[in-house]
Amino acid sequence: MKRETKLLHYGAAARPGPANPPVIRASTILHDTVASYDDIKRRRETDETLLSYGRRGTTPAHALQTALAGIEGGDAAYLFPTGVAALAGTISAFLSAGDHALVVDTVFSPTRKLFDVLMSRMGVSVDYFPADAQDLSRYLKPNTRVLFLESPGSQTFDLLDVPMLTAQVSGREVTVIIDNTYGSGWLYRPLELGCHVSIIAGTKYLGGHADVMMGAAIAKGDAHAVLRTHVNMTGQTLAPDESYNTLRGMRTLGLRYDRHHHAGLAVAAQLVARPEVVRVLHPGLPDHPRHDLFVRDFSGAAGLFSVEFRSGFESVCFIDALQLFAVGSSWGGFESLAMPISPYGERLYPPQQPVGPMVRLHVGLEDPEDLAADIEQAFATVATSAGVR
Ligand SMILES: *Cc1c(COP(=O)(O)O)cnc(C)c1O
Repeated sequence: MKRETKLLHYGAAARPGPANPPVIRASTILHDTVASYDDIKRRRETDETLLSYGRRGTTPAHALQTALAGIEGGDAAYLFPTGVAALAGTISAFLSAGDHALVVDTVFSPTRKLFDVLMSRMGVSVDYFPADAQDLSRYLKPNTRVLFLESPGSQTFDLLDVPMLTAQVSGREVTVIIDNTYGSGWLYRPLELGCHVSIIAGTKYLGGHADVMMGAAIAKGDAHAVLRTHVNMTGQTLAPDESYNTLRGMRTLGLRYDRHHHAGLAVAAQLVARPEVVRVLHPGLPDHPRHDLFVRDFSGAAGLFSVEFRSGFESVCFIDALQLFAVGSSWGGFESLAMPISPYGERLYPPQQPVGPMVRLHVGLEDPEDLAADIEQAFATVATSAGVR
């Protein structure tokens, strides 16, 4: 069966019944006998779909876990209240005092903070490697236990050759964890490229409607048991309503990504043609430095990318002039967004040459012609206001 079809049926309730698994709000699950209570407690160790206690999730969380493991091709999925909680919960499951973590320099900024502050405090040493590194041997140590990747990288969209990198740690005691929020297990399936755990901030495209916070970690192989123990020990779960809304959003994940892909590339091409623009950082553009990896490993692009303008361009005026692109954190919802960014400040391997003002765009599901017209009028507004000054 094709994955588009499977996506619509994960977690289906028994018939006759609702199309979506029902929201069950529960802490306590009641039993009539001690034997029944003991039976469920024993069986839940191998059957994650049993109702045993609210902290172990109820029906919509279990259905969502099935769907996430399904789209990522993992053995199991674990849920967290935010994407950052999924990152913190996962990296701390695989690292102990005295261990070393190797992290790509282009990671999401809060991930860097988790390594630099939280993991350092726990006695873990951390090194960063440049996204274009071909040889990890100079960064790996005998005590390296986690290799942390993100592709494309946050804000600058650098692509990693993940099979090439994971091959370099295979046979070592290294868990490869990747932030797959851009691809959400749909555009990109890193568990098939040698990664052990894939993390998705479902706050973005899984929910898809800018109204859900959630994170997930999907594991394959031995990593699954480690993560399961850690998640249960630390009491991580996702509330029933958030689980329901995430799964409801996921039903249209493929359709929405398709629209974000085409509309995003159209806006990217429109920007490439502008004299005010130095470069557009979008992995789906043929002039992206590793477009070959995009073609090889991805089945499409998200609506998220960045643009660098010529030095002196009034990028804040441009953002403010946009009518259909609101200013706001996050992305992956139906709506278009624009944000000023300065991604290189905390990087250890920034570009050598000076960088002009940068803006990150999320191209939403609005009509692409309206978005194109909005971009044009914003450039016109910047030109007029520059002329006035
Ligand atoms: C937003 C984001 C997260 C964190 O998700 P939250 O739900 O906001 O905590 C993690 N990784 C990436 C790449 C993100 O963009």
